[in-house]
Amino acid sequence: MRPYKTRRTIIGTVPHGADLLDALTTFAVNEDIKVGRITAIGATKHTVVAYYDQKSRTYTPLEYSGGMEILNLTGNISIRDGKPFVHAHLTVGDAQGKAFGGHLMKGTIVFACEIIIEEYEGEQLWRAKDETTGLFLWNSADIL
Ligand code: ZN
Repeated sequence: MRPYKTRRTIIGTVPHGADLLDALTTFAVNEDIKVGRITAIGATKHTVVAYYDQKSRTYTPLEYSGGMEILNLTGNISIRDGKPFVHAHLTVGDAQGKAFGGHLMKGTIVFACEIIIEEYEGEQLWRAKDETTGLFLWNSADIL
């Protein structure tokens, strides 16, 4: 476990038609945000998330065409392969209010999106392959 302090809070929008994951990643890289937190609400024109199958250790993509509400996006920024890396999960709702979600993938196209990013200062947090899960997890960050 590592303590962090907020360095700055950034509030903005992701442009209509942008790829949500690409936009967040580009912003994190351009601003050199090494550790951070992302939250967002808005709407998508097209949504691609994934489910991590723990047995096969592969991501299964789930695709939803058409407009959806972004009920919640929660994510973080840390270092993977030497550069800022965005890991985000997305919950979207359809016209009946039914919710779907998963691990945010490239291919999610923004209709409108309001984001708040908190950049933290503290020890560097980086991702490394975890043999137990097959995931790229934070290295030596267990709280217990
Ligand atoms: Zn994930």
